Amino acid sequence: MEKPVVRSLLEANDAGAAELRALFAERGIAVLNFIGSPGAGKTALLEKTFRDLGGEFSMAVIEGDPQTDNDARRIAAAGGRAVQVNTGGGCHLDAALVRRALGGLDLKGLDLLFIENVGNLVCPVEFDCGEDCKVALLSVTEGDDKPEKYPLLFNLASVMVLNKIDLLPHVDFSLERAERFARRLNGELAVLPLSCRNGEGLDGWYDFLRRVRAKKAERAAVGR
Ligand code: MG
Ligand code: ZN
Repeated sequence: MEKPVVRSLLEANDAGAAELRALFAERGIAVLNFIGSPGAGKTALLEKTFRDLGGEFSMAVIEGDPQTDNDARRIAAAGGRAVQVNTGGGCHLDAALVRRALGGLDLKGLDLLFIENVGNLVCPVEFDCGEDCKVALLSVTEGDDKPEKYPLLFNLASVMVLNKIDLLPHVDFSLERAERFARRLNGELAVLPLSCRNGEGLDGWYDFLRRVRAKKAERAAVGR
């Protein structure tokens, strides 16, 4: 693809994302875009979140995968609302796909909307979906040099979740190294090591969600 074509594609997407952002702002819905490799635990973290915060917040998720509705069914089994988007082999979600997915969701009273992007650390970063923040999710079974290899993600993310810390004794992942590289790229980045398996660190994640949601609701109230 030629450069100008890519640019106009991204510009069109940015316009769509701006419309989505306005819609979410008006309704006070906090939107988080999950970006991580396949197997990092994006769906697992969402399942936990639905189970633990289902009584506190009204939440829904847009599940992006090339094929299958497996993840949407996992979320439904955890008591959550999910809309599956199949990209038909496409490697990222974009504003138009999110917009279409919203047709299958009742936005009324919604507090938090999660976008589980296609498992990939590259182009999902470039396609704004109108979110408040990007969640960079990696697990300790991956390399601790991910922030170095994929700087744009860690640059633009608000939080880095380091999942599967229960496995740390069995792998060569250094939390300290991952955090040091990531913070060099982004001094504002929140870093949350956790385990969806044994629940360690999940409280920090839930507090992060509460803060994001409170900030959004506050701004929506001011705008009214
Ligand atoms: Mg998934
Ligand atoms: Zn892509």
